[in-house]
Amino acid sequence: MTEPAISESLATARRRLTDALAEAGRPVADARLLAVSKTKPAAMIREAWHLGQRDFGENYVQEALDKQAVLADLEGIAWHFIGPLQSNKTREVAEHFAWVHSVDRVKIARRLNDQRPAALEPLDICLQVNISAEASKSGVSLAELPTLAEAILDMPRLRLRGLMAIPAPAQGRTAQRAPMARLREALEELRKRFPDAPLDTLSMGMSDDLEAAVLEGATLVRLGTAIFGARQRHD
Ligand SMILES: *Cc1c(COP(=O)(O)O)cnc(C)c1O
Repeated sequence: MTEPAISESLATARRRLTDALAEAGRPVADARLLAVSKTKPAAMIREAWHLGQRDFGENYVQEALDKQAVLADLEGIAWHFIGPLQSNKTREVAEHFAWVHSVDRVKIARRLNDQRPAALEPLDICLQVNISAEASKSGVSLAELPTLAEAILDMPRLRLRGLMAIPAPAQGRTAQRAPMARLREALEELRKRFPDAPLDTLSMGMSDDLEAAVLEGATLVRLGTAIFGARQRHD
């Protein structure tokens, strides 16, 4: 089966983002799309790149490295690692990604810091917060967040940019917004506590809750299905 062209779905996703920013009274440059390309072929990423998309999110290290090798000619592409990260995979991630959104413990952060090649910019980091406790086992708790943030701010090869969450699926804007408001407040508190840190990123919102996320201040919205269509493999 051939994959459908994505020009329409990408245009629709961009319109959703622009409309949501307008509804929130936020400037149009305030948030951007992270195209989540896990399980999707390199050809679709190339197509999205030709349409101007630059940020791509991947969840599985080996799959991502395979696609990066094929797409090495795409200038300005930024790879974001957004999946669960085990210690034995940190080196590849430190060497081949610009961002990691799923850091939730010091041990992983320290390895990324130690393994980030000197020739590259510091690795941009979002801390994954377990914002609706029942939803997942990953993510730092709100109580432990400041301690983790402080430790990472001491790591010179990492740049702490903000917070990421995967809230439990919810129906309706009000229910979707509640955990996102908690994440926004957590970022505001971190900013007060660490005023010199470059904390400018709220990574939240997916295909089903983009609008709620933008209303609560999301700056990076992670869209998979809405851009690339339903996934067949993995999840
Ligand atoms: C798969 C995934 C997404 C994209 O989800 P969609 O519902 O397909 O938009 C976003 N964030 C993370 C962390 C993911 O694993």
